[in-house]
Amino acid sequence: MGDPRRDIPRTDDVLRQLSAEVDRFGRARVKTAVTDAQQAARSGAVPTAEVTDHARSLLTRSFTPVINATGVVVHTNLGRAPLSNKAIDAIVGAAGYVDVELDLATGARSRKRGKPVLDALVAATPGAEAALVVNNGAAALSLVLTCLAARREVVVSRGELIEIGDGFRLPDLIESTGPRLREVGTTNRTHAADYERAIGEATGAVLKVHPSNFRVEGFTTAVPVEQLAGLGVPVVVDIGSGLLQRDPLLPDEPDAASVLAAGADLVTASGDKLLGGPQAGIIVGRAELVERIRRHPLARAFRVDKLTLAALEATLAGGAPVTDYRHRTPEDLLARTRRLADAVGAEVVPHDGRVGGGGAPGVQLPGWAASLPEAVAAQLRSGDPAVVARVRDGRCLVDLRCVEERDDERLIEAVRRAMA
Ligand SMILES: *Cc1c(COP(=O)(O)O)cnc(C)c1O
Repeated sequence: MGDPRRDIPRTDDVLRQLSAEVDRFGRARVKTAVTDAQQAARSGAVPTAEVTDHARSLLTRSFTPVINATGVVVHTNLGRAPLSNKAIDAIVGAAGYVDVELDLATGARSRKRGKPVLDALVAATPGAEAALVVNNGAAALSLVLTCLAARREVVVSRGELIEIGDGFRLPDLIESTGPRLREVGTTNRTHAADYERAIGEATGAVLKVHPSNFRVEGFTTAVPVEQLAGLGVPVVVDIGSGLLQRDPLLPDEPDAASVLAAGADLVTASGDKLLGGPQAGIIVGRAELVERIRRHPLARAFRVDKLTLAALEATLAGGAPVTDYRHRTPEDLLARTRRLADAVGAEVVPHDGRVGGGGAPGVQLPGWAASLPEAVAAQLRSGDPAVVARVRDGRCLVDLRCVEERDDERLIEAVRRAMA
């Protein structure tokens, strides 16, 4: 018998078997996967009979739609805020040629790019004179501080120098484009006098950052925006979450309108957290400062595309799924959870949802879950539709807070299959 590794199927033969994949992923990518699979067979890691299957398994799409059964509303690993149907329609509508910078009446170039969205943001944020939209919250903060304080100092409390995720730290982000940080106070306590002592000739701005992903409890003091506003330098507040107005259900979560009313000059936030829109960075505040920022060369590098503008405009006009999900009550969720549990022979247990990485750390959203054996979770994730549930204390908990009611039947079927 010869060496089976010499019987490795030929590239063209494998490619013929993978015609559906070629259609979906493109020939170049599939060919790379085939080469890698042949290599794996040559090294003995994969049986030669499985080269085609192995190549197929190497091809994964960027995205698989997921049913979010975790109860976590703004789930960063699941793409943060899901878009509303209106926002999705708006993206489709903007996908072809559109008049983003053309005046259809005169046929001349227009300067309106994004203007309707900016007007909508100003209208939705009492106290905002002007607005600007950039790529994400990090870009908004970076642009604002670069414009106000390049080669100068940004005064910030030590308790607010946060890591926003994936190893990215706010201090590094801020200093990467020129501003120097002037840290004041301590991790748990910062007083007005700390800011006063630090402010001087070199100060470009005072920054206040909302610690959106953790909570410091106990012996703590922070200086409210009202007091910072009296210090004679621009006050920038990074609220993170993107609440434009106060939500009584999230009493500790800062919102743009309240922060501006308290005297902030500029507020920065994300578009895809509690605002519930596409990934975007939002800057609102004083017109003169916003105009300076708009004209900064870096603003062009952070500019958003027409699809983001379209989705944001529709979100501002029509509400967001994350808002609906946050406001679902235990009463709303009980009957649906019972139906699911009865259909699959599970038990209903109390389960608290969360706002998520988008804000309001520590806030619990009371509700329910269908409690299943832990092993079901992995089956659910690899099913079609893929379902991500919460694993806790050796159980797989299926929470309907962030599931659209029209998906209940699909979810029940998916759970049945996962348990089989
Ligand atoms: C999320 C967050 C950011 C980063 O925003 P992105 O949109 O993820 O770039 C910055 N600051 C705060 C306070 C945040 O919560």
